[in-house]
Amino acid sequence: MTAFTTDLYLDGAWVRGGAGTFTTLNPATGEPLTEVASAGRADVDRAVAAATRALRGDWAETPPSAKGALIHRLAGLVERDADRLAWLESSEMGAPAGIAQGLFVPNLAASLRYYAGWADKINGEQLSTDGYFGAATHSYTRREPVGVIAAIVPWNSPLMILGWKLAPALAAGNTVIVKPAEDASLAILHLATLVAEAGFPPGVVQVLPGIGSVTGEALAVHPGVHKVSFTGSPETGRRILRNSADTFKRTTLELGGKSPQIVFEDADLAAAVQGVAMGIFTNQGQVCAAGSRIFVQRTVLDTVLDGLADAAVAQVLGDPFDPDTTMGPLINARQRERVLGYIHQGQEEGAKLVAGGGKPDGPGFFVRPTVFAGTNDLTIAREEIFGPVGTVIPFDDDAEAIALANDSDYGLAATVWTRDVGRAHGVSAALQAGAVGVNGWSPLAPQLPWGGLKASGVGRELGYEGILADTEAKTVTIVL
Ligand code: NAD
Repeated sequence: MTAFTTDLYLDGAWVRGGAGTFTTLNPATGEPLTEVASAGRADVDRAVAAATRALRGDWAETPPSAKGALIHRLAGLVERDADRLAWLESSEMGAPAGIAQGLFVPNLAASLRYYAGWADKINGEQLSTDGYFGAATHSYTRREPVGVIAAIVPWNSPLMILGWKLAPALAAGNTVIVKPAEDASLAILHLATLVAEAGFPPGVVQVLPGIGSVTGEALAVHPGVHKVSFTGSPETGRRILRNSADTFKRTTLELGGKSPQIVFEDADLAAAVQGVAMGIFTNQGQVCAAGSRIFVQRTVLDTVLDGLADAAVAQVLGDPFDPDTTMGPLINARQRERVLGYIHQGQEEGAKLVAGGGKPDGPGFFVRPTVFAGTNDLTIAREEIFGPVGTVIPFDDDAEAIALANDSDYGLAATVWTRDVGRAHGVSAALQAGAVGVNGWSPLAPQLPWGGLKASGVGRELGYEGILADTEAKTVTIVL
């Protein structure tokens, strides 16, 4: 087997893209890994035509239980090739091997297995009415596929995030065109080889690597695409929403956040510090739900600050494949400069640097894990940094903690650390967030809906919500 699969997977065949190639780098060294084929507009047109044929033809004719069996088969192949998929993810986006092996790839398999089970359980409802001009009626809904879905994926955990889009879409009878991020196409292209091996009909799943402003844009404006399911930045999300408007596409947008972690004085502080550190340092902070605003009750502020500083210093930066490494590089030089710019701005605006700051010497796009003590009005507490930078902010009581946590443009996730069950429920209800975890993170489990409020996005993925988002309800009434 060659090291990498780099062509487009289009209509069941491997083809070179019409827009040349682009380079994927190894972020741990800054050296090129390989050239990847880039899809042009004509490739997008061909892919949409193939997806439409499959939608009305082979995939529509595949019985629900057979769809489920195919998705299970794909999950089995993902499990068989788990090491290779994890190796590709760590190679192209720098995640420590342990997190790719322990979370990203198993999460993809779990999403596929969960939605494979849904494929023959997607039912409408029988509905009661007052009848039709005196005649009785029989009314019901059918849950039909939305159609051709473009899944536009970011680089920060491509396989896991793709699983949240691909698995429900397939179970609900849609066809899917995947657009991986420029910096991380290789693991998804290997997944495409598994799609082919599993025996999905041509056009059901296609993978078109390419440039966002070309391939992604062409998908978002294409009249043959019925839905765009996107994860990435708010700027691109806004653009996709505008581009989708002309053709009234359905959209699911997951746009990151500035998620609060609230530590109350009654919490198990050792567990809280460990959990909060995980919430900001995992995957180098390149996590949409990264808990980058850390609100700590003033009575325990020093204890938590000391604990977080220790946790930052204890991080081992290095080669993602070294088993001692806990933190890899950021995705690219642009992202590293962006994060370093925020660290500089934090200091300029008067935040106190408690740990980290700057970048280590040597190659690769590394940034030191960084903890600030500051306030909620600093730029580092308002804007998504997407790097290993957390700001600790004190509060005095529950009302202030809730007000500060909700004072944000974003609303994706939150954690609450407390032993008081009443406080746990009360604060969870008051937080403006799509998901709240108490004494731990909301697990990224396929059964649990995921998505955000405000600038964190539109719609939900995962759970039964994922099925609803990938189907249209058709109402049928028979006058008896
Ligand atoms: P991005 O939003 O530009 O890219 C995400 C995906 O969208 C990629 O596949 C990209 O090719 C595609 N894309 C870009 N322009 C497009 C367009 N006009 N139409 C359709 N698709 C398009 O994100 P980025 O530039 O890689 O990262 C910038 C910032 O976004 C990061 O610093 C971070 O703050 C945020 N981000 C958030 C998440 C998240 O999980 N919510 C993921 C990645 C990045």
